[in-house]
Amino acid sequence: MAENHSKSAYEIAVEQFDNAVKYLDIKQGIVDMLRVPKRQLIVNFPVQMDDDSVKMFTGYRVHHSTARGPTKGGIRYHPDVTLDEVKALAMWMTWKCAVVGIPYGGAKGGVICNPKEMTLRELENLTRRYATEISVLMSPGGDIPAPDVNTNAQVMAWIMDTYSMHKGYTVPAVVTGKPIQVGGSLGRNEATGRGVMFTAWEALKHKGIPIEGATVAVQGYGNVGSIGAYLLQDKGCKIIAASDSRGGIYNPKGFDARDVKRFKSETGTVVGYPGADVITNEELLELECDVLVPSALEKVITGENADRIKAKIIAEGANGPTTPEADRVFAEKGIFVIPDVLANAGGVTVSYFEWVQGLQFFFWSEQDINLKLRDIMVKAFGDVLAISKEKNVDMRIAAYILAIDRVAEAVMIRGIYP
Ligand code: NAD
Repeated sequence: MAENHSKSAYEIAVEQFDNAVKYLDIKQGIVDMLRVPKRQLIVNFPVQMDDDSVKMFTGYRVHHSTARGPTKGGIRYHPDVTLDEVKALAMWMTWKCAVVGIPYGGAKGGVICNPKEMTLRELENLTRRYATEISVLMSPGGDIPAPDVNTNAQVMAWIMDTYSMHKGYTVPAVVTGKPIQVGGSLGRNEATGRGVMFTAWEALKHKGIPIEGATVAVQGYGNVGSIGAYLLQDKGCKIIAASDSRGGIYNPKGFDARDVKRFKSETGTVVGYPGADVITNEELLELECDVLVPSALEKVITGENADRIKAKIIAEGANGPTTPEADRVFAEKGIFVIPDVLANAGGVTVSYFEWVQGLQFFFWSEQDINLKLRDIMVKAFGDVLAISKEKNVDMRIAAYILAIDRVAEAVMIRGIYP
């Protein structure tokens, strides 16, 4: 089938849902309910800039489902954020939380802005105002944001502080991914990359590929990609390629993943790292390797390039990197895809631990957190693999079958109000 580049992220999310829901016996009305977000908020708000001007910004917060608990999902700052993208990301969060069995529904937020062109003070002003605008939806029992692309622990601290100032007391559980000093969880920063590592490791075992010496290419050397890379390296993998928005690097003999991270934090990019060839992001995706880890943005692996991808395993660190057309090619070629809703679920899992710790004002050790995370990720991988074998479907459809069934069951048990 020809690739349709005009398909939006939300159209892709719905197509993935439709591909899986046909394997389940769910009332049509419940299917219709789960195909659309529960609620979506658009906010237009002014921000005081450093040059004394006032600039208007647009932001979004979308809740996809509240059937299994409060909603959870990150906040993205990017010039290309759209309501459509936020709706897709919110829906994916619902399935992700259900796949790993944590008691949340899906949400997502975003602000159309270019944080790279803003000062720290402008970013703080934007964040505090956006947090106030979405506070009609946000609360520790209702909707708990977290970091996503271009937002970080500092941004979460500003959101927590803003919400707390309005309440008159500190409410750490309103947001996760906070700095440790103000109620963040040990292990949260590494959690998504750690989850990628656990699921890639399980996939290597399943495919009979030894982890020692397995070759790994990582697109997007940010929080998820760089940490996933060095944790896989710690298990014996060889990191042969890495990239960011400015381009990529490649050395078939491998390089030190932590040193590349240091180089990027000093220079702003992986490009120029000594002892590696410069490659493009497109070339990186098509390298011969055991594990490809797309961990940048959506729709990078499409019907157009899927045929040229030579990786044996794709571990989706990013949300939505693979289109349904590419999935069909991989199913034919026998490329094993660990879907985003499973591969990158480590972040929301430790966010859940952070939220629980925040509600109780009682904090756990990093070892406890990493062990609990491992148990959840390994179990979820096994659950999805079992469905994939039983129904003879790929891992994405299997993950969706598991997730949709859990959410639909919650809807049915709760009943339709009134
Ligand atoms: P980040 O901002 O830390 O890193 C993103 C990286 O991607 C950066 O190195 C950036 O340079 C690179 N990049 C941007 N555009 C690119 C392009 N066109 N080509 C190649 N590289 C490009 O973000 P992150 O938190 O690591 O998130 C990355 C992905 O993982 C996103 O899809 C996000 O939704 C997903 N995710 C993140 C978390 C988390 O806990 N941070 C959890 C689940 C999923």
